[in-house]
Amino acid sequence: MLLKNPKREKAKIILYFASGYSGYFTLMHKSLKNMRRRFLPGTFDLIVKRSQTGRGLFAGEKISRGSCIIEYIGKPATKKQIKENTGKYLFWTGRGTMIDGNIVSNKARFINHSCAPNCEIDIKKRRVYIFAKLSIKEGEELTYNYGTEYFEEQIEPHGCKCFKCLFE
Ligand SMILES: [Zn+2]
Repeated sequence: MLLKNPKREKAKIILYFASGYSGYFTLMHKSLKNMRRRFLPGTFDLIVKRSQTGRGLFAGEKISRGSCIIEYIGKPATKKQIKENTGKYLFWTGRGTMIDGNIVSNKARFINHSCAPNCEIDIKKRRVYIFAKLSIKEGEELTYNYGTEYFEEQIEPHGCKCFKCLFE
């Protein structure tokens, strides 16, 4: 979740898909980008329960592709947190601004990383939103790609436990 530069990170993710998969994902990403985004979370039923890696956030109902699912809310990060940049729930929201999502009301903090995610992040006016990258079935776990930097530093050393890495 430590996106140093959200724009560049996003570009990296696109490159990742372009190189790791067929052009299908790249095309899909582009078409999603062209959709007019509504930065207003829906009232979806979202359930926190056990997943492959501790707890996860699951869809309690069907969510159509492109929907704004939930906002990743937090309190402003302290100067120390920004400087050290090590907390699990820290999220860059713009140049030099960061939120700490480790607060009870932030249900989005339960969303786990996946290398083949069904959600994606978009930031608008320094606020972080999670969108459905694919159409999501009832009962499916929500995931997004935490980004190359977080992956390399925090996930890769212990082995990624996402569905794709474990079972595909
Ligand atoms: Zn993985």
